[in-house]
Amino acid sequence: MATERTFSILKPDATRRNLTGKINAVFEEKGLRIVAQRRIQMTQQMAETFYGVHKERPFFKDLVSFMTSGPVVVQVLEGENAVAANREIMGATNPANAAEGTIRKLFAESIEANSVHGSDSPENAATEMAFFFAGHEIVG
Ligand code: UDP
Repeated sequence: MATERTFSILKPDATRRNLTGKINAVFEEKGLRIVAQRRIQMTQQMAETFYGVHKERPFFKDLVSFMTSGPVVVQVLEGENAVAANREIMGATNPANAAEGTIRKLFAESIEANSVHGSDSPENAATEMAFFFAGHEIVG
């Protein structure tokens, strides 16, 4: 097992309901350390670029509109196998399928407004971290 970093976003449904502390508490209880964090308003261009892989999907336009509908918190989380560990902590994309105790089971409103983003591979984690943070802003 190796210490690893992953990229995370607390989505607009989470900031709107003032849940950022509760969600961060779940990360910390499960052994992930928040080593970078910033609250931002995503622009349409940022959201379109960030979710570019989904550009042909039917939900793309609504997703961009949701992700720019309010502030988000961008984060880097560090821990043992952080990428896979965070995917488990988040739960399934659709909260209806998310396991008990996962963030999406606890907090998500819908398949779109599902409270958190987490990188799905170490390669994507590196790209996504670099999109939002300079190296010196990540302090482990
Ligand atoms: N999404 C959506 N409708 C869908 C599938 C996904 O609105 O049918 C949104 C949802 O917010 C999800 C994001 O698009 O978190 C990215 O989708 P992905 O399949 O990558 O899921 P994730 O990796 O976030 O679980």
